[in-house]
Amino acid sequence: MNYDLIIVRFGEITIKGRNRNRFESMLVDQIKIALKTKPALEYVRGYARVYIHLHGESYEQVAARLKDIFGIATFSPVVSSEHDLEAIRACSLDLFRTLTPAPKTFKVSVKRGWKQYPHDSVEMNHLIGAHVLRNTPELKVDVRQPEVELKVDIQFERTYIYCEVERGAGGFPLGMNGKGMLLLSGGIDSPVAGWMAMRKGLKIEAVHFHSYPFTSEQAKEKVITLAKRLAYYSGKIKLHLVPFTELQTKLAQSGHESLIITLMRRSMLKITERLAEESGALAIVTGDSLGQVASQTLGSMNVIGRSSSLPLLRPLVMMDKQDIITYAERIGTFNTSILPFEDCCTLFVPKSPATNPNLKMVERVEAHFGEELDRLIEEAVQGTEVVVLRDDGEVEVAGQKEDDWF
Ligand code: ATP
Ligand code: MG
Repeated sequence: MNYDLIIVRFGEITIKGRNRNRFESMLVDQIKIALKTKPALEYVRGYARVYIHLHGESYEQVAARLKDIFGIATFSPVVSSEHDLEAIRACSLDLFRTLTPAPKTFKVSVKRGWKQYPHDSVEMNHLIGAHVLRNTPELKVDVRQPEVELKVDIQFERTYIYCEVERGAGGFPLGMNGKGMLLLSGGIDSPVAGWMAMRKGLKIEAVHFHSYPFTSEQAKEKVITLAKRLAYYSGKIKLHLVPFTELQTKLAQSGHESLIITLMRRSMLKITERLAEESGALAIVTGDSLGQVASQTLGSMNVIGRSSSLPLLRPLVMMDKQDIITYAERIGTFNTSILPFEDCCTLFVPKSPATNPNLKMVERVEAHFGEELDRLIEEAVQGTEVVVLRDDGEVEVAGQKEDDWF
């Protein structure tokens, strides 16, 4: 079927009162950037929706991209017809015939935006419905629970006809809810957490801690690949690569082996908090999932979380691993995440990490390091390398271009 346009319906933004217009404009801009490789497309804003005129572009290709843009609730491929009754009837039937599997029940819903049209909507329902029925064996009308609703919208310029409704990614337009720092490891969980945060309208800057040269160049490349995949959903993403070797080596000398992971995680949060200040982020997002490993028990999360005053958002906290994997596959990060390169944390994993660390004890150990800990944290912040990864695979040094999406 050669579709003429797509109706894109916005999601939850409609509840946001006064700011709605601004958020809708943001979303339309994001759609345009995501589809910038298709300059023929034309955009017309409507109430809580945008019409994308295809002008010959492939519906399937545009639809595939729309599915991954946050803030879109649903969209429909539409054919347009001249106002002539026979043309509308023929178009409706053609569209109906493309449906697979062929529906057994249907109804027609005509809306007349152009009131001068010679037939009113009730008449039109019958005129179109009768034509489709006559030409489709075994089809029945069901006005209550039809399998398919054939919608016909008569406007001044043309008549628009559609019956399919595809689900979009949902959520809010990117950036509508501010910015968060995503702790991005090389694992399965944190990219999913980042995607979920973005879907809720949070812009994300990723922060990765590496222990180069103990961790390999490949481990770094892996994280860059994951961040690039996230950039597909956000246009681009800033990745902070934090040198963690010295701090980690120091913490490993604390003499409290079981607390190493707790201490490391606390330092990670302190460093991230500093980076967040510079970036204007108001939250830290992690891939923690309750009970998954020793650092993700309630006791550990409590002691680790207290090292930062920013809200810690843990989108996966109540999810099963299998559900997280399903998301990782859907968003295209799973195959990268399972590559076997080491993470900085796996280097220093103690034999029996604390599952219920004592806050007082942890604070005492940190106090024992004294100013040295602050100095190492400061050095890690100062030594952080920032790259901007773009949807098209390009890598740039931060600060060069600040266009697109954010
Ligand atoms: P993931 O699959 O995200 O690696 P995981 O189950 O391996 O999760 P942990 O290694 O305990 O979990 O890490 C918990 C969370 O801490 C991660 O989801 C991530 O948000 C953060 N994290 C861990 N290691 C790093 C790192 N090297 N750099 C940045 N963040 C990290
Ligand atoms: Mg991990």
